[in-house]
Amino acid sequence: MSFENFGLQAELVRAVQEMGYTQPTPIQLRGIPAVLEGRDLLAAAQTGTGKTAAFALPLLQKLHEDQPNPRGSRAPRALVLVPTRELAAQVQQSIADLGTHLRQQSALIFGGVSPRPQIDLLRRGVDIVVATPGRLLDHANERNIDLRSVRYLVLDEADRMLDMGFIRDIRRVLAMLPPNRQNLLFSATFSEDIRGLANGLLRNPLTIEVAPRNAPTELVDHRVHLVSQGEKRAVLSHLLKSGPNAQTLVFTRTKHGANRLAEQLTHDGLQCAAIHGNKSQSARTRALDDFKEYKVQVLVATDIAARGLDITELPQVVNYELPHVPEDYVHRIGRTGRAGSTGQALSLVSDDERDRLRAIERVLGRKINVLPLDRTQIPRPSGEGKTREPRHVDPRAQQQRHAKPQGQGQRQHQGHSGGQAQGGGQAHGRPAGGGVRRPKPRGFRSQA
Ligand code: AMP
Repeated sequence: MSFENFGLQAELVRAVQEMGYTQPTPIQLRGIPAVLEGRDLLAAAQTGTGKTAAFALPLLQKLHEDQPNPRGSRAPRALVLVPTRELAAQVQQSIADLGTHLRQQSALIFGGVSPRPQIDLLRRGVDIVVATPGRLLDHANERNIDLRSVRYLVLDEADRMLDMGFIRDIRRVLAMLPPNRQNLLFSATFSEDIRGLANGLLRNPLTIEVAPRNAPTELVDHRVHLVSQGEKRAVLSHLLKSGPNAQTLVFTRTKHGANRLAEQLTHDGLQCAAIHGNKSQSARTRALDDFKEYKVQVLVATDIAARGLDITELPQVVNYELPHVPEDYVHRIGRTGRAGSTGQALSLVSDDERDRLRAIERVLGRKINVLPLDRTQIPRPSGEGKTREPRHVDPRAQQQRHAKPQGQGQRQHQGHSGGQAQGGGQAHGRPAGGGVRRPKPRGFRSQA
């Protein structure tokens, strides 16, 4: 099955080829014909499954074929709501890339930046708006945008929008849309809340559930070090410095924690940046670009800031703190071990996080190896009392649990070679020279 078989415009098939997609992904196989037919969609799909093209391709086709708005108005006919600015930027870029040979215009609308250029763009007229809910409502209330022509609505990462408390904003936006429209809802999970939203929104939807492109348990080497809270920073710093300079995404639970850790690691001599919701949009974009372009080795992120980012084939992810919600562990490590390459997910687990670790193991359906730590090389944290070994850890028991041969514990932070990561990237990414705007660093496919 190829993209030609969907009956898409030649311009869209050409764009898809230029992006290096040879075969539709499972969600595209099922989603594209359904959207072309005009059906509502309820799709369980995570970032990395190709979900953006699954809705963008048929929407671009329909917008191209549809009758224009009456009286020549260029009020938007398609609206894509997303939870975060970064995801908005990625989705809009994908739409622009896929629609590069068509005339449909798209606009990117999110907060944290001056509204002026957005207003100018909306006044000139666009076909598709990709927006975060808050700024969209601001524009709607200021009458900068007329939503009465919207015929297609996409809610992307709907579960995350609900997690972030956007339900009221979403309902306000829905109330501004004409009732007669096609609705597509994408969500990584189908919680009760999502089903409730879907029931009120979708008419006779086609339900599609696709597995993440790579099951994390298969391609990722999961490891745990049991450490005290007070020694986490020194341990991380040591592992990063003694390892092979692999690009590393480090997760903290809070924005404040992300900032503080980034400062400490910088102080320890590492090239480091932080990305979280309290940073200005330009600072977030800069941090992400620096990371993708190998100007910084370590990016410290919160779950929400990192969610949905198209950073792939990353050699290692570190959980500096385990997430509250065990499923977030799966989202975090979904960034490594893609496209046939193996990645590493290392978690620094303190005593008070043992329950969380067990919950994560239940979600993964397997135990995670606990590896011993060679503490002789690790400086004792300053200002802390004597660093204690977690009480419950019996080193002999740990030795017996090793799946890996002895010696790997010392090298546990070693990512696989960049060359390997790059080679793997071809399988799902764009080939060199095909629709790429700037040189891509090893191991990443860059869209933001
Ligand atoms: P998404 O799930 O939409 O975030 O897409 C994840 C990544 O997969 C993006 O980098 C897309 O460019 C890429 N992608 C989407 N569809 C295909 C395809 N059919 N073949 C290869 N890569 C794809």
